[in-house]
Amino acid sequence: MPDRYAVIGNPIAHSKSPAIHARFAQQTVQDMTYVALAADEDGFEGTVERFRSEGGRGMNVTLPFKHRAFALANRRSARAEQALAANTLDFRDGVISADNTDGCGLVRDLVANHACELHGRRILLMGAGGAAYGVCGPLLDEGPAELMIANRTPEKAVAMCRHFAKLHRYGSRLSAVSFDDLRDRAFGIVVNATSAGLSGEMPSLPPELFAPDALAYEMVYGRSTPFLGFARARGARTADGLGMLVEQAAESFFIWRGVRPETAPVIAELRAVARV
Ligand code: NAP
Repeated sequence: MPDRYAVIGNPIAHSKSPAIHARFAQQTVQDMTYVALAADEDGFEGTVERFRSEGGRGMNVTLPFKHRAFALANRRSARAEQALAANTLDFRDGVISADNTDGCGLVRDLVANHACELHGRRILLMGAGGAAYGVCGPLLDEGPAELMIANRTPEKAVAMCRHFAKLHRYGSRLSAVSFDDLRDRAFGIVVNATSAGLSGEMPSLPPELFAPDALAYEMVYGRSTPFLGFARARGARTADGLGMLVEQAAESFFIWRGVRPETAPVIAELRAVARV
């Protein structure tokens, strides 16, 4: 019997995770299956428990259940503790172990796929939701000169800043602002971790936001967003979140299977299919 894995979320039909893990399994010759499971608002914990009791080995967790996955776990990695959320569950040894691979996925995409060093750079992280929490610690781990968090609801950016400043040895390099406070500041890396692009919107940003050679990173993938257009028009290099999606999946795969798949061919294949 192949080992069984799944991704759980709502909505989930659009998820690319089954296709990504099928390619990883084929590439690394792993005997496993990976399916998408939908759960309704009340059904998350029950669906996880059923999958586990029927022999499931592990799960990815996506919106809106990452906080509940964190709460459900008996063991939590440092990455999950920092993010207060989990996107990876492992069911070995009769316990539910939670991890968060989003931040590691973003850092790997930036550094390995986009040749974008983070050490000593000025980074703007836009958003203070689950995705921003997931990536903040791993970005700080790279030792940037500064990491500024900006959010539409500024109090959430302040709360997030306090959380990471307490936890992280580079916490002193963190600050929180509202989008109105970004005037006359320039950053080498701007990460859009808001969901504004999904509805064709973007935060209001000043034109001088990008330093020369800046990289603008949009976590939304598979579409052209106003933020990507804004950045391109101001001469910044741009990247969407498809690479992060594949890299975070590769880290989950490594946790479960102990093998690291090649990500570049999978990113190229998905991009060719999506034509973006
Ligand atoms: P979330 O927890 O719902 O947070 C949404 C964030 O976006 C909040 O900071 C919110 O600000 C902000 N926002 C929403 N609409 C906005 C607008 N019109 N203008 C300015 N700010 C706006 O969502 P999440 O889990 O953090 O996910 C954020 C995005 O990242 C989603 O699009 C998701 O698909 C993407 N993502 C991609 C990957 C990947 O692998 N590529 C991984 C994870 C997430 P307020 O606090 O003011 O509401």
